[in-house]
Amino acid sequence: MEFKITILGSNSAIPAHGRNQTSQVVTLGNTYLLVDCGESTQVQLRKYKIRFSKIDYIFISHLHGDHYLGLMGLVSTFHLARREKTLTIFGPKGLDEIITVQLKYGNLNLHFPLRFVQTKTDGKNLILDENELRVFSFPLKHRIPCTGFSFEEKPRLLNLVKEKVHFGKIGIEAINTLRNGKDVLDENGHVKYSVAEYTHPPAPLRKYAFCSDTVFDEEIIPYVRDANLLYHEATFMNVHQTRAKETCHSTAAQAAAIAQASNAGHLLLGHFSTRYPNLEPLLLEAKEIFSEAYLSEEGKTYWVE
Ligand SMILES: [Zn+2]
Ligand SMILES: [Zn+2]
Repeated sequence: MEFKITILGSNSAIPAHGRNQTSQVVTLGNTYLLVDCGESTQVQLRKYKIRFSKIDYIFISHLHGDHYLGLMGLVSTFHLARREKTLTIFGPKGLDEIITVQLKYGNLNLHFPLRFVQTKTDGKNLILDENELRVFSFPLKHRIPCTGFSFEEKPRLLNLVKEKVHFGKIGIEAINTLRNGKDVLDENGHVKYSVAEYTHPPAPLRKYAFCSDTVFDEEIIPYVRDANLLYHEATFMNVHQTRAKETCHSTAAQAAAIAQASNAGHLLLGHFSTRYPNLEPLLLEAKEIFSEAYLSEEGKTYWVE
């Protein structure tokens, strides 16, 4: 099953240098999740031909405009497109109020149910449990309440070794037990069919961690540990480290240090300051510390593997 991220926006604060504000689509198989929703998000969704009617969940990290000002436009488009299924929005306190006020004064009665789930800023919290995926929020240190999100694949049923189980040699009940990762025992409690012998080893579970706006903070390491792909903001370069700290942002080198310390597979840098028209120096700075670093490029897809 494909697990991938498509970048819709990679800039911070304002759109500049052909770059838009933070937004990305996470897909696992047929599940589409939108993460942050900068003002160009729906234009970008169309540009990159992403079937956004498939999006049932939207995650908003915090209430700075560059992360959510596209949300009302998208909700309005869903309404005009006669969407009927529920849309769930995860975000900080106040987001439901902001959207509700706009709906109220626009006299807009949505055709679809809109559900808000308020994120907490006290540790790792399970906020969505789907068939193949769990999503957790975790706190980031920024100027206002802000959370990151961790998208973690759930254990799947094991696949059987076909040669061992054909011709109905093993009953359905035993097959289910094996596929759930348990040995089948005989009446004396001895192993009759073992998981090791009758099933293929499970594929490793994949994880994508998204760290939106944050100051350099080693406390996030346990939340993002062992992510196959880690997105970490890299608003500045180390030469502007003081500015980064003052504004509660990180540098490319600091993002790389978090990737290194958390044993990430790959690092995706994003949320670039408008002061950098050319991003290569940020990439080089990160790669000195963590070689598997990449720049977020709009329209480009990155696999979680
Ligand atoms: Zn931002
Ligand atoms: Zn911010």
